Amino acid sequence: SVTLDTAFFRRFLARATQVFVAEAAHLTDLDAAIGDADHGANLKRGFTSAGRVIADEAPATPGALLTAVGMHLTNTVGGASGPLYGTVLRRMGKVLGEDPVVEPPALGKALTAAVASVRRLGDSAPGDATMVDALAPAAEAYTSALADGGDVVAALDAAARAAHQGAEATVPLQARRGRASYLGERSIGHQDPGAASSAMLITALYEATDT
Ligand code: ADP
Ligand code: MG
Ligand code: MG
Repeated sequence: SVTLDTAFFRRFLARATQVFVAEAAHLTDLDAAIGDADHGANLKRGFTSAGRVIADEAPATPGALLTAVGMHLTNTVGGASGPLYGTVLRRMGKVLGEDPVVEPPALGKALTAAVASVRRLGDSAPGDATMVDALAPAAEAYTSALADGGDVVAALDAAARAAHQGAEATVPLQARRGRASYLGERSIGHQDPGAASSAMLITALYEATDT
């Protein structure tokens, strides 16, 4: 299996950055359809500059690493997604505490708490066609895969699949939160950009299990 140490979470963030750079145009296209065409650029800029911050600060534990990146995203990324993703990572960092190695159930608690924080900050629920539609099923799939006896790799694989399904499932939904909600029924038929990027983020977590 894999050890959830600081190196694991560094691989996760590096992979997420790579994907957001590669998919920036795609994410921005999704946002162009129902928003203001900046989602890909926001994430590309935020994660790329976070990489410089963690290279300088060299946080020593998974919790400190996620907290540092979360604070950076909240403070520097304009747009709704900066504070929302900032909250995801800061909340995960807080739940993981100062342990140098995270046990698989603790990662489940961190993911579940992160979803609750985003829902609270965004006043959003599953079905509103937001990032919550990818993140909530991911946290649930992770937790139930572990409960079924799966190891962390299997659980993160299940989480990534659930996140992608959740992102796909936003297509027929009407957006109830964020800029896309201003379109009313015209938001139907489009994938939510934040749900798409959240599926990429959870996939990066799964791919970090590949050492
Ligand atoms: P902005 O809409 O400010 O330009 P981004 O384009 O970077 O910010 O991010 C938009 C994404 O943020 C949406 O696709 C959605 O997933 C997410 N989002 C926006 N508002 C909310 C909210 N209230 N709750 C949850 N997610 C939200
Ligand atoms: Mg936008
Ligand atoms: Mg914007």
